[in-house]
Formats: sequence, structure tokens, C-alpha cells
Amino acid sequence: MRAVNPTVASVPAGDAVPERQAVIDLSAITHNVGRLRSIVAPAKLMAVVKADAYGHGMIPVARTAVAAGAEWLGTAHVSEALRLREAGIDVPVLAWLHTPSTDFAAAVAQGIDLGCSGWELAHIAATAREQEHPARIHLKIDTGLGRNGCSLADWDALVADAIAYQDEGLLRVVGVFSHFAVADEPHRPETDEQIQRFREAVAVAEDAGADLEVRHIANTPAVLSRPDSHFDMVRAGLGLYGLSPFEDQTSAQLGLIPAMTLQTRVALCKDVPAGQGVSYGLNHVTTEPTTLGLIPLGYADGIPRVATGGPVRVNGVTYPVVGRIAMDQMVIDLGPDARAGFGDAQVPGSALGATAVLFGNGADGGPVVEQWADAAGTINYEVVTRISQRVPRSYVGGPDTTLAGGA
Ligand SMILES: *Cc1c(COP(=O)(O)O)cnc(C)c1O
Repeated sequence: MRAVNPTVASVPAGDAVPERQAVIDLSAITHNVGRLRSIVAPAKLMAVVKADAYGHGMIPVARTAVAAGAEWLGTAHVSEALRLREAGIDVPVLAWLHTPSTDFAAAVAQGIDLGCSGWELAHIAATAREQEHPARIHLKIDTGLGRNGCSLADWDALVADAIAYQDEGLLRVVGVFSHFAVADEPHRPETDEQIQRFREAVAVAEDAGADLEVRHIANTPAVLSRPDSHFDMVRAGLGLYGLSPFEDQTSAQLGLIPAMTLQTRVALCKDVPAGQGVSYGLNHVTTEPTTLGLIPLGYADGIPRVATGGPVRVNGVTYPVVGRIAMDQMVIDLGPDARAGFGDAQVPGSALGATAVLFGNGADGGPVVEQWADAAGTINYEVVTRISQRVPRSYVGGPDTTLAGGA
């Protein structure tokens, strides 16, 4: 007859704690907005909240950023901007990435400013004509990124067409903007060239009759490293979330506080002998008797499958993930001493049920998202943005922490 596992009855229940969660510290967002504004003043701050606020939850982040003094919000898609309006957020919003399927009519009706790189101009003007309501547009110049934006060769023509529509009363050219290619590498000369081309493009628009409210080109790296790029407004995403765009500078060194903590609870603690293969492929094999800890997060939760070696903090100790990361779970090796008094007092000798932190604000020496980015061969932007909707967001540090579920 098998003995009943004596620890089962004493596993801490913790009903109120979600099994896995991304905890978003809205007070960190507030702090970061203040930090960025102090750097760019008197230029305005557009808080970029595209892609569900880089995975942090668009509506709670947008509300917090606006309350903290961000004058503008920015999204890639009109559909994202419309969700801000549906939530009752009425500050200026710019959306800049469109297709012929984009709902320009809703955008104009809801007072969304539209970025315009070329073909959109005629669509936007036609919409404005139908609605008898002038659109607000920001003309985008490609100063070197080679992505969205009007090429230098076509700029004069785009400006002329836009001003013609403006003279008809169909739209107002309220902004000219561009985007940097290498601002995260501040020594590179291409940023100087982009700024120079931007100045020239702005001059063309103003000479043609544009009465610009805002000239804007700076993203987070340029906010932090190129004061000469701030113009009337900056568009900051990453810094808002407290993350560093630079290889060689931490959030703390930049005066920023990471807002997202990704955590769960240890799902299983198991003693294994030497020679135990771990996870698919059995790529990791234990070299001595040890205790494995099962972490119930995997690539379906947005943890990159390639990120073996990424850090998980349990009871104040950081362990690297061993073996392959699977869809739902990953494994850490808690070590040969783990059974000897390790862990929660309620579960003697076991870390079962203990909080497992994959990354957080780093203040306690705990793991940070950049370690996961390194393990995955990517950047911090991608790791936070891809934390999937299977992971509930919860909010702390806000004026109203009942904002949860704003994904
Ligand atoms: C995403 C984005 C930003 C924000 O960039 P960060 O580096 O996150 O500050 C700014 N402008 C445009 C056009 C973007 O697409």
C-alpha cells in the first residue's frame, strides 16, 4: 500500500492569489512619466500605449499616464486609439499605422489624429468630406529608418497635396513627425543625419503653409540621449514602462522603475536521482540527487521557448531554468540541499507553493526582464509585450486599483 504524501494537507492554499500574474505597479508608471517629463520639458510627452501598453494593459496605463501629466497618447493602430476613446479618455491621441481597411471614418468621428505617410491622405480627405468634419493629420517623413513614412523624394508633393486639402477645409496639418533607426546606440552618426533631414522636412511643411502644433521624432532612447531631438513633443513607450533601451545602462541608472512583475507559484517540488533527464528532449540531465521545482509558465504565456537559463527567484534565491521551456511549464533545479529545511514553513522541506518571480523591478536584487531578453536573444521590449493574455494582469499602486482586467 502506498503512503499518502504527508505534505498534501499542508500546502498553503492562497485562494486570493492568482495562479500566475503580471503585477503592474501603476505608481512606477506615474514615477516614470514624471521622470520623462522632467527630462523633456518644455516639450510635451506622448505616452505610447500601443500593443496593450507593451503588455502592461492599455487602459489602466493610459489613465495613469494622463493623470501623471502625459499630454498625448500614441498607438500604432486606429483600432487601439478607438479603445481609448471607448474608455472615455479624451486627450489627444495619434495613430500612425494604417491599411486600406483602417476605419478612418471612426477615427475622424472620434477626433483621433492620424499619421499620414502618403496614400492615406486621399482616404482621410474623402472621409472628412463625407463627414463634413475636418481631420487632424501628422505628416510622417522617412528620415532614414526605411520603414513607414514618406520618402524624401515624395515629401514636397505630399506636403503640397495636404495643404491643398487643408485649404479646402478638409483637414488640418497639425504635426510633422519621423522615427529614429539607431537612437539606442547614441554614438552613431545616422541620428544626426535624421535630425537634419527632419528639420528640413519641417521647414518645407511650414513654408508651404502648415501651422504646426507639434514636431516630433524622439522615442525613448532619444529622450534619454539626444536632447536636441525633443522638439515640441516626444513619443515614449519603453521608458514609460521603466525599461532601459540601452545595452549598458540599467533602469535604475536612468532613474526609471520597471512596472511589470511576472510571478507564479511553484507547482511541484520533486526529489530526483542523478541522471534524471528534464523536459522535452532530455537536454538537461541531473548530475546528482536533487530537487526539481516546476514553474507553471511556458511559451503559451509568452515566455520565449529558447530562453532556457532564464532566472526564477524562489524564497530569495535565483535559479536558472533547466531543460526546455514547454507550452505551459518550465523546470528549475532547487539543488541537493533543497529538501533540508528549504522553503515554506507550512510545507517543511519544500518550496511547493512558494512565490516564483521571473522578473520584477530588481529593487531587491531579484531578476529583471533584461536577463530573460538575454536568455532569449531578444530585447526587453519583446519580452514584456509578448506576455500573453493567459496571464492575468493585476494592478497595484494606482489611484484606483480596481482597474484590473484592463487588458
Ligand atoms: C513604438 C513607437 C514609439 C515608442 O518607442 P519607444 O522606443 O518604446 O519609446 C515611438 N514612435 C513610434 C512611431 C513607434 O512606433
